[in-house]
Amino acid sequence: MRPLVAFLEFGSHRSIVFPTDRTCILKLPPPSDSATDKLFWHWSPNGSYSIKSSYKLIMNRLVSTTHLEIDADWQRIWKTNIPYKARFFVWRVLRGIIPARGALQKRGLQISALCSLCNRNTENTWHVFVGCPYVSPVWTEATLGNVIDNMIDTTDSFSALVFRFLKENPHPVGDRFLMILWSVWHRRNDILWNDGPRDPVSVIKRANSILSE
Ligand SMILES: [Zn+2]
Repeated sequence: MRPLVAFLEFGSHRSIVFPTDRTCILKLPPPSDSATDKLFWHWSPNGSYSIKSSYKLIMNRLVSTTHLEIDADWQRIWKTNIPYKARFFVWRVLRGIIPARGALQKRGLQISALCSLCNRNTENTWHVFVGCPYVSPVWTEATLGNVIDNMIDTTDSFSALVFRFLKENPHPVGDRFLMILWSVWHRRNDILWNDGPRDPVSVIKRANSILSE
């Protein structure tokens, strides 16, 4: 028996071979020449394993695909003039993969889903960035309070609100808005882990200082 067939039939490492690949391989007739078996990674075009392809696989399997239902300009996020770390953060927010308590509880963590700052509502992206009483003063300080308030009444998800904001506001305002989102999240973590400042001014200052770097 060929080594690969034996490996697939009896090997203790079946879990590293996808069931569909295994079935197909076992149906192949034995080669007439003396060609040797080779292992190919299913998730890359050339069959070579890479960290990037495994990351993509994990993300595809674990991450919600509801974002695909949003008819929005995703490229707009990547074309902003904010640092890459902030763009990536916003992308994660819109995909619903920031570690907010509500999402963590859904994934099985035995924790309270209530907001870690106000302890009033479920901690999700909507609450963290627009619903929490700790964030409203930030938008007021940024002179975006009215704009956000108007959108709250007419959008049904935080992702929709962000895309609408970016559509209705030119680059400098949109970029600042996204940078403030980043700063709001980091202020939240600073309060929780480092007893950081709670005032809205520090959130805006941080966002502005990173934008001007
Ligand atoms: Zn809250």
